Amino acid sequence: MNPFPPYSSVVESKLAGRYITNTHIDPLLSDYNHSIIGHSTSGLPIYRIRMGTGSTKVLMWSQMHGNESTTTKSLLDLLRFLNTNPDWLDNLQLSIIPILNPDGAKAYTRVNANQVDLNRDAIDLSQVESRVLREEFDQFLPDYAFNLHDQRTIFGVNGKPATVSLLAPAFDQNRNYNSCRTLAAQLASTIFEGLHPMIGSQIGRFDDSFNPNCVGDAFQSAGVPTLLVEAGHCPDDYEREKTREYVFYAYVLALKAIATSSFSDVSVYHSIPENQKLFFDFLLRDVSYLENGDMKRGDVGLQYKEVLQNSSIAFQAAFSASGDLSHCFGHIEPNCEKLDWFDFKIEESAQNVLNTLDL
Ligand SMILES: [Zn+2]
Repeated sequence: MNPFPPYSSVVESKLAGRYITNTHIDPLLSDYNHSIIGHSTSGLPIYRIRMGTGSTKVLMWSQMHGNESTTTKSLLDLLRFLNTNPDWLDNLQLSIIPILNPDGAKAYTRVNANQVDLNRDAIDLSQVESRVLREEFDQFLPDYAFNLHDQRTIFGVNGKPATVSLLAPAFDQNRNYNSCRTLAAQLASTIFEGLHPMIGSQIGRFDDSFNPNCVGDAFQSAGVPTLLVEAGHCPDDYEREKTREYVFYAYVLALKAIATSSFSDVSVYHSIPENQKLFFDFLLRDVSYLENGDMKRGDVGLQYKEVLQNSSIAFQAAFSASGDLSHCFGHIEPNCEKLDWFDFKIEESAQNVLNTLDL
């Protein structure tokens, strides 16, 4: 039995693709109890949606990195689902910030308009967006927090792309587990077990090095169980619409666990394999290429650059690595038998290589 609602009935079909900004979500907010809780560096509104009046408070924010929009799409799916299933909210009170960094979203950058990474600003609070989030944290006083991101296509697990990655961030240098971090890890366990029948081998655990300037680490240190969710690559899904669906299920699993105080065992979290940087968008095995004037034979990895063009994201291939990449994988590994040698350092020729391979 599928424990989830039929996704087609909840998906917010007005959102699609990778380029998601305030302009895209503005028309959708009138369906929800929303307000403006601050303005970005360049003056764009930062929206917050409140839902439910239950006793357990959950804070979720997305797109603190402006070009990481998948979890935002899933949040709007979640809102649609909860609007038609209000009984889910009997025990819950949600505060949702769908786009914390609207300037970065508009420019399709990780950083904000001052070129600052907001996820390295938790102590300094040097940026207005960081302060807006911290004020919401201090005023709402959540019982749980969700820090929502996208990860690059380079991450893999079990030799497969890491479609969803989870992390219960550390609260100290020794990466100890107290009751707070354990609860966050149990949330991750719950999500892992629920998603396992669908994408079990494509769920990874992120590196838990402690960085008090990361917001998740800071909130965990403040005693609020905080979970990092990273939306990643799913085969043939560069628009991340399939991943979006899995992330929606992750939200549903987590909220159900919180509402019913029913969590999977922390040992499940520890059994999730760690992410590794093992993937290229394209891996060309055993090809000839010219590098710094020398003809070589080996493997070549190509990685897409995501470029904002005419209000959508173009994927432009670029050379990333060469040599013995036999331990790596490509999301696409084309047959290169008929490929002529190419100049590894000339960026434009990366696309020419793909054209030659007729992919
Ligand atoms: Zn991020």
